Amino acid sequence: MSNTPPHKVLPFAGSPLDRCENLRRDAAAMRTLQDSDRALFLPLWHGQVFMLSDGTPALLQGMALDTLSIADPGPILLGTQGKTKQPWFAIALDEMVDADADFPLGGLGEWMDLRAAAPLLSTADLAIVGRASALLGWHNRHRFCANCGTLTGAAEGGIKRECPDCGTEHFPRTDPVVIMLAVRGDQCLMGRQAGWPDNTYSALAGFVEQGESLEEACAREVGEEAGITIGAVRYVLSQPWPFPSSLMIGLIADALSEEITLDDELEDARWFSRTDVRAMLASSHERFRAPMNFSAAYHLLNEWANEEA
Ligand SMILES: [Zn+2]
Repeated sequence: MSNTPPHKVLPFAGSPLDRCENLRRDAAAMRTLQDSDRALFLPLWHGQVFMLSDGTPALLQGMALDTLSIADPGPILLGTQGKTKQPWFAIALDEMVDADADFPLGGLGEWMDLRAAAPLLSTADLAIVGRASALLGWHNRHRFCANCGTLTGAAEGGIKRECPDCGTEHFPRTDPVVIMLAVRGDQCLMGRQAGWPDNTYSALAGFVEQGESLEEACAREVGEEAGITIGAVRYVLSQPWPFPSSLMIGLIADALSEEITLDDELEDARWFSRTDVRAMLASSHERFRAPMNFSAAYHLLNEWANEEA
């Protein structure tokens, strides 16, 4: 029997871990998982992952933690793996005086920004590291109660924080972002921001606002950024995007107009043919470059470029 899901799994999705939602309120079970000598701890430091030379992320076992200073929220349970239910935790490391000398595996690899590490990691590792980064980043930025200002603490293995004073529960947020290709016949609209690598163009994107449907957000963003009017919109794909905690929702939209009017957000926007896009995706275009191959934009472009014209 195949385990292949009926939908496309993009980078940062497809975690092999069981998230253990039904265990998290059982303090004794949680303690057992954390104390298990099979437990693995994925360390992040300033949001960076320690990449070993074989392209895997450094994982520590319990004993190695004794020499490290672990930041709030302490170990958070990412889940368990496989039939043996091997526990995986993530930890944020406190400030280290010397990031190589003070780290047990220092010298065997290097600390890397997640964007730089992403192309090196396997699908499974990328999904695990991405979730760890999004969750630890949320804890780091949301330590105090938004209701009363008291320092809160992690609960249920780190999937929420609770205020000891007013009792409010705080849950990690996921911010929906629409990312869309406006298309007109054999052409699609892409833009670029100042500061991107030269000649790189990507799908337009923007946060969904309150009281707005995905279709409305798509039409508003394309209208604001490029002055293009949007008709029918269809859903294509989604992707968790841990920079810091977005959910990318990939759409293809019929463009009802053609003349581009730029706002301040984009340095340039233009129409590209399927031939252009295919060459960009293959890194063989003589001038233009596609977005990073682990991004939703890349996969959205790939879907459209390979559709029947
Ligand atoms: Zn409070």
